[in-house]
Amino acid sequence: MQVVYHDVIIVGSGLAGLRAAVEVAGKHDVAVLSKLHPLRSHSGAAQGGISAALGNAEKDSPEWHAYDTIKGSDYLADQYAVEVMCNDAPRAIIELEHLGVPFSRFEDGRIAQRPFGGHTSNFGKAPVRRTCYAADRTGHVCLHTLYEQSLRKGVSFYDEYQVLDLCMAEGAVNGIVAIEIKTGQLMLFHARAVMFATGGYGKAWRTTSNAFANTGDGLGIALNNGMPLEDMEFVQFHPTGLYRLGILITEAARGEGGILRNGQGERFMERYAPSIKDLAPRDIVSRSIYEEIRQGRGAGPMKDHVLLDLTGLSKEKIVEKLPEIESFAKIYLGVDPAEKPIPVQPTCHYAMGGIPTDANGRVSGDAEGREVPGFWAAGEVACVSVHGANRLGSNSLLDLIVFGRRAGKDINRYLDRICLTPIPLDTGAAARMSEKIAVLKGRDGGEAITPIRAELQNVMMENVSVFRHEQGLSEAVEKITALQKRAEAIRVFDQSEKFNTELLEAIELQHMVNYSKAVAVSALERRETRGAHSRDDYQSRDDASWLKHSICFLEEGGAITHMQKTVDLSLASSRAEFVPKERKY
Ligand SMILES: Cc1cc2nc3c(=O)[nH]c(=O)nc-3n(C[C@H](O)[C@H](O)[C@H](O)COP(=O)(O)OP(=O)(O)OC[C@H]3O[C@@H](n4cnc5c(N)ncnc54)[C@H](O)[C@@H]3O)c2cc1C
Repeated sequence: MQVVYHDVIIVGSGLAGLRAAVEVAGKHDVAVLSKLHPLRSHSGAAQGGISAALGNAEKDSPEWHAYDTIKGSDYLADQYAVEVMCNDAPRAIIELEHLGVPFSRFEDGRIAQRPFGGHTSNFGKAPVRRTCYAADRTGHVCLHTLYEQSLRKGVSFYDEYQVLDLCMAEGAVNGIVAIEIKTGQLMLFHARAVMFATGGYGKAWRTTSNAFANTGDGLGIALNNGMPLEDMEFVQFHPTGLYRLGILITEAARGEGGILRNGQGERFMERYAPSIKDLAPRDIVSRSIYEEIRQGRGAGPMKDHVLLDLTGLSKEKIVEKLPEIESFAKIYLGVDPAEKPIPVQPTCHYAMGGIPTDANGRVSGDAEGREVPGFWAAGEVACVSVHGANRLGSNSLLDLIVFGRRAGKDINRYLDRICLTPIPLDTGAAARMSEKIAVLKGRDGGEAITPIRAELQNVMMENVSVFRHEQGLSEAVEKITALQKRAEAIRVFDQSEKFNTELLEAIELQHMVNYSKAVAVSALERRETRGAHSRDDYQSRDDASWLKHSICFLEEGGAITHMQKTVDLSLASSRAEFVPKERKY
């Protein structure tokens, strides 16, 4: 089997992976592997913007930003990490600008900023304009800029290589097994440092804003290697997905003045969040929409959605500030948003949980936080944790840029000081993967992928979405356990070597059932309501028992073990405002 060596291997070419690569390039030999062309990574779909207390539009401060992030997280975020992120944000934006990101501007030439849900001034007093943007294509322009910079700095790219497993030796990560999609050949990549930036995992739900590639491979591989996942129960549903399709209508549409209305034309958010109304955090708006539908006040003949009304904005403003949204609404639903409200419903959007890391991206291998040498993670696959139980809009792009860079810097330090020669490669993982592929393709019986994946997506949508309860979650765990067994015995019908997407989807599905079970088990265990995790049977937050992170491990045979980890309340503890209290907007 072909073995390729690079000092550093980064898996994933979204903004987190590329930001780290730019940091390492020029200092060490770095390669980025991606199962997609880098510019197709989901980061390119980010619309609304990236937060930073620049104060270009009005007075703002990183401390207010940190306050909002911690409050938005329903106090589950690690406060030290939040302060690191919010303090670094203004620098990170200026740096992006200098790298070439064409941000939208105010008349006087400074970077423009817009309001976004949950971002306030003066510790919750009023909405603040904190989100920097480039029309509604912010992720797209950032991704292009960082890709150009990576090429300029000589990063090696392996496009359309799907990573299947990690190589470990002497307790450290020192390589990966990947399949070259074009040829079907397995390859080994040997390295001194490996970083995962494999993105989110919304594809386990039926209605999602996520790209097809967001199948949580990084999480599945971590679980398979005995590593934990943190806070998997916290999955954010964005309030405004296009009706029936889930395609995202950015929160910026409400930031620019859009209003949510029920079937009777009422601005219902006035009832649920009287002060910040349509710009309340996403978990609150999504629950409010479901509440309206439950009470029979939904829109349309089925009364199963609500309406996003942009008709109060001028046509020129929609075209200038929200051009993508205008074309999505026209193309997919035949609605011109300047003339008619857009039918919307909550859509599975963002995963707060992931592979636990510290604020330098180092992966924790156990519930005590002991690091796995040679292994880093950043971006949506990681849980630092800065978003806690609920992420504020425009804080993810910031997380990618800040913690992608910090992971890159930490890798440089590690390579400079600690690790001089690569640990010899153990080829066992590659042999196991080769055998697994032969079994998948060689089986006589066995089911196809599609029905198993569809069942999983239905279970997650029905039982593990916005509202949850004991019975539904127990049923979900039971059903997913059965799906794990069926996924294990899957059959790949396509025998070809080149571009065998059926084989790749089979492996993705095996990851999906495992991390989905971690989501369902953590949701069942957490007997309280916090952030995006809302339990009908435990309706209030229980700080005494649950101001704790969830940690999950995958056992042999597919069982999930669940335990708790302490929340880091250090640094910020001096401020009275950071002490958990009722979250009212
Ligand atoms: C529609 C949409 C709009 C959004 N808008 C905003 C916004 O306005 N502001 C904001 O802050 N956040 C937004 N978010 C969230 C944010 O965009 C994501 O959290 C973020 O882009 C994730 O970036 P990432 O670098 O972690 O991963 P991604 O950009 O998802 O990239 C993942 C990479 O990993 C690679 N990969 C995955 N598995 C494998 C494998 N097995 N082998 C090899 N490569 C692999 C993929 O090829 C890809 O390159 C939005 C999300 C969505 C879905």
